[in-house]
Amino acid sequence: MSEKTPKLRTALDGIPTYKPGRPAAAGGPVTYKLSSNENPYPPLPGVLEQAVTAAGAFNRYPDMACTGLMAELSERFSVPVEHLATGTGSVGVAQQLVQATAGPGDEVIYAWRSFEAYPIVTQVSGATPVQVPLDSDEVHDLEAMLAAITERTRLIFVCNPNNPTGTVVRRAELESFLDRVPSDVLVVLDEAYCEFVRDAEVPDGLDLYRDRPNVCVLRTFSKAYGLAGLRVGFAVAHEPVAAALRKTAVPFGVSQLAQEAAVASLRSEAALLERVDALVAERTRVVEGLLGQGWTVPETQANFVWLRLGDRTADFAAACERAGVVVRPFPGEGVRVTIGESPAMDLFLEAAEGFRKAL
Ligand SMILES: *Cc1c(COP(=O)(O)O)cnc(C)c1O
Repeated sequence: MSEKTPKLRTALDGIPTYKPGRPAAAGGPVTYKLSSNENPYPPLPGVLEQAVTAAGAFNRYPDMACTGLMAELSERFSVPVEHLATGTGSVGVAQQLVQATAGPGDEVIYAWRSFEAYPIVTQVSGATPVQVPLDSDEVHDLEAMLAAITERTRLIFVCNPNNPTGTVVRRAELESFLDRVPSDVLVVLDEAYCEFVRDAEVPDGLDLYRDRPNVCVLRTFSKAYGLAGLRVGFAVAHEPVAAALRKTAVPFGVSQLAQEAAVASLRSEAALLERVDALVAERTRVVEGLLGQGWTVPETQANFVWLRLGDRTADFAAACERAGVVVRPFPGEGVRVTIGESPAMDLFLEAAEGFRKAL
């Protein structure tokens, strides 16, 4: 027997593992999961029925080209089908984007702290992550990101609103940034939470991409549309980029269930967006409650709030858990709390108040 073990790429050394939000504990006191930015509402009736019908045919492979979903997206967002690409969640599409643009020796720029999938997909491609710290208001520092561009930069992620801080970059500064990024560097506007934005100064990436061939907009059905478990997201970009995404896609990655549920969700958009409105109202209530308790909360345009707790992060998360809500701690940095159902947010606000009083 040989002593040798399979040779693995050294690029995999040191890749951080994705940490999913912890589930709510089974049994015991009522526990709510506020750790993964999920939509707390169950699937809409029409969407669920469509998915059940699709499930009846899962002995068959899905439509690899996602024809029905592409047609629906094309119409809904007024973009040519050739500008669309789908993937297994927008994380899947993000991975395809990096694979299509960057390999060993190339650099991928993103803000930090931002979405934890960025370092993973960058390193899986063998590219070098370049992390640019958020500014003191927890906002993308676009000037510093511009300054970080080198000959080797291939892709820049701009997460708007930013996960986990909820902060946004607004139209004027984003346009000025895009005007100065070299045209051969792809800028990915990750808009996973765009449906929750109520600030009119936050641009819709779809308006920005149209006359910018180096801009790609990333969207998902996982958050506002409530299909996190089905894994479907999409990108909108000019033809060469969209075509590259189709090349890097895992064949048959997006299940028929996911495709049909996504189409049904787009057709039930009014009802879905009503739920989003309710979550936005709940967000306002939670932020005001926290501010009233004396917390500093960065302005959030997403379905979560961020508390920079530093050394007290783990204690705070434990206090929330004792109160019946599971939040998402980033050790030593802060806690991200998803806006969920009102009873969950009541428990959270109570826990936050108790924690603050005991400081
Ligand atoms: C949740 C999230 C996504 C979406 O992930 P899916 O793979 O579509 O479920 C993408 N980007 C950011 C910033 C997110 O927070």
